Amino acid sequence: MNILLLGGGGREHALAWKLAQSPGLDTLYAAPGNPGIAQHATLVDLDAADHRAVVDFCIRHSIGLVVIGPEAPLVDGLADNLRTMGVPVFGPNRKAAQLEGSKGFTKDLCQRANIPTAAYVRVTSKDGAIAALDDFALPVVIKAGGLAAGKGVIIAQNRQEALDALDSMFSGAFGAAGEEVVLEEFMSGEEASFFALTDGSAILSFGSAQDHKRVGDGDTGPNTGGMGAYSPARVLTPDLERQVMDRIIRPTVDTLANEGMPYSGVLYAGLMLTDAGPKLIEYNARFGDPECQVLMSRFDGDLAELLLAVAQGRLAEQGPVALADRTALTVVMAANGYPGTPEKGGRITGLDVAEQAGAKIFHAGTAERSGTIVATGGRVLNVTATGDSVATAQAAAYAAVDAIDFPTGFCRRDIGWREVEREAK
Ligand code: ATP
Repeated sequence: MNILLLGGGGREHALAWKLAQSPGLDTLYAAPGNPGIAQHATLVDLDAADHRAVVDFCIRHSIGLVVIGPEAPLVDGLADNLRTMGVPVFGPNRKAAQLEGSKGFTKDLCQRANIPTAAYVRVTSKDGAIAALDDFALPVVIKAGGLAAGKGVIIAQNRQEALDALDSMFSGAFGAAGEEVVLEEFMSGEEASFFALTDGSAILSFGSAQDHKRVGDGDTGPNTGGMGAYSPARVLTPDLERQVMDRIIRPTVDTLANEGMPYSGVLYAGLMLTDAGPKLIEYNARFGDPECQVLMSRFDGDLAELLLAVAQGRLAEQGPVALADRTALTVVMAANGYPGTPEKGGRITGLDVAEQAGAKIFHAGTAERSGTIVATGGRVLNVTATGDSVATAQAAAYAAVDAIDFPTGFCRRDIGWREVEREAK
């Protein structure tokens, strides 16, 4: 089988690495890819926003499965166009991808299906939002309704901050994503992520993870796309995982199917573990980045066959996802300046030595220039190691980080700290 993988970040490098190990694979193509993905795939010049070009490519190259990494092409309906032409695709159709593309859609679905989540209201005008503010205690959570690359959420500690947030959202700071705003009750607890594969009917757990969104050690500084992650998240105990499956994931999958928009792909649930049990913060319609890197580092099965089973509605035939009990931990190395304007062009050496030390290095924002790897984006490398505890995986990952020479980059030195502290007790 030939596979086309869309995307060019660390998440897609992890997917490419596993897909390349699948016995049924003939040729793996990737677009746009990156130098890490190029170790496993033939890179092709294809724009995921040009649906016709993607469909034509699939037909010309007898593609038996398209794996869509990022959210934008899903929300944009690329999966619909591929399915219409009979091309199996891993990833939901446009309507079901609203779970990620529209926070209001997801909140309404939670209400219809009685899924535990924060109380909310959807508003489309500043006046309406200000009127609704009085119904919420402080702090209050204010969210741009559409895709805002992780930047559209403000936790307002007082009324003035809430008014400022509404001002910025309704003045167009988030473009179309801010046309609708969702006000939410603030939930307290520890956050964890849970991943489930579904073909619209059967559901399989793909495990849990926790990430570090803040740029600085001790979870300080501005938010980023994620500075590191580890899997499993042991705070999501088997009992809590069952609750998540029964009260959140299963009702979501069934309600979407009953309403004529079955969800096919991976459901990534952002959860708040509150005193009253796990509650849904948000859904994403794809694997997380860098969570995918740790999940793939624990995955011991045939990824192409598993994703194809999802795409073809055969998930019920599959056994449980083969996830090793070991812990995987990823440290993100970013370019100086990130999450603001990252410094580009910095040279990186020592990757071979780092891998020989036992880590796996996934490429994110890199390019190859005259045989040298250089930084081209904010998040540049994902240094991933496994171990029988978070502490050992962390030590192995940082040993590899220290073997990498990237003078214009930085990383956090405390990825996994919360779990390391718990392990030490
Ligand atoms: P990302 O793309 O980074 O996952 P997003 O922009 O889609 O984020 P959310 O995941 O909904 O937005 O929110 C981002 C963060 O804001 C959450 O990880 C959580 O820390 C916080 N948050 C969101 N909603 C709430 C809430 N109701 N109560 C408390 N914290 C919240």
